[in-house]
Amino acid sequence: VVFVGLAGSGKGTQAKLVAKETGLAHISTGDLLRGATGELKEQVDEVINSGRLIPNDLMLHILNERIQKPDCRAGIILDGFPRNLEQAKLLDHQMQISKVVEISVSDDEVMKRMLGRVTCKECGAGYNLHTAPKPADSKKCDECGGELVRRKDDNPEAIRKRIATYHEDTEPILKHYGDKVVKVNGKRDINDIKKDILKVLKSD
Ligand SMILES: [Zn+2]
Repeated sequence: VVFVGLAGSGKGTQAKLVAKETGLAHISTGDLLRGATGELKEQVDEVINSGRLIPNDLMLHILNERIQKPDCRAGIILDGFPRNLEQAKLLDHQMQISKVVEISVSDDEVMKRMLGRVTCKECGAGYNLHTAPKPADSKKCDECGGELVRRKDDNPEAIRKRIATYHEDTEPILKHYGDKVVKVNGKRDINDIKKDILKVLKSD
């Protein structure tokens, strides 16, 4: 199963929740890259440090290694891959995609959520001023009372760029997957969204 959605759509949160309930393995490409070891880690670090994007063949190599693990036997949820049409086509040669869950949230809502993201300067705890987890005081950390600040790359211009990239590069994969795509309204309660996705996945 592939989960698709803008950063800020709640895609990662839902992927985690749904994985827990279904027994599918949650594979986030961010976690995969951070978790690479040995020679692969060296390759990943080299690419990241040079500021380039991870090449598709390296990404697929890491993914293929990950899906050999026993927890993937029942199936997997892919979160963060494929991000464009080329990757989707490459993935078709590697595995069979049964469903594509699109978590749909408007650009304005994503902008609002991303601008609401704050972290504690002291302990690093993450909050959102508009969605859960909301801090009791918008300026102070619930845990330690530290000052809450916004990340530098969560500014309107950078977020607009991320949204545009999603529309240009990622959305075309939805057309590629055709009737495998199920659109879920992401502007609702977390549990309602989860229920909808579970229903979709159990439907066949
Ligand atoms: Zn704190």
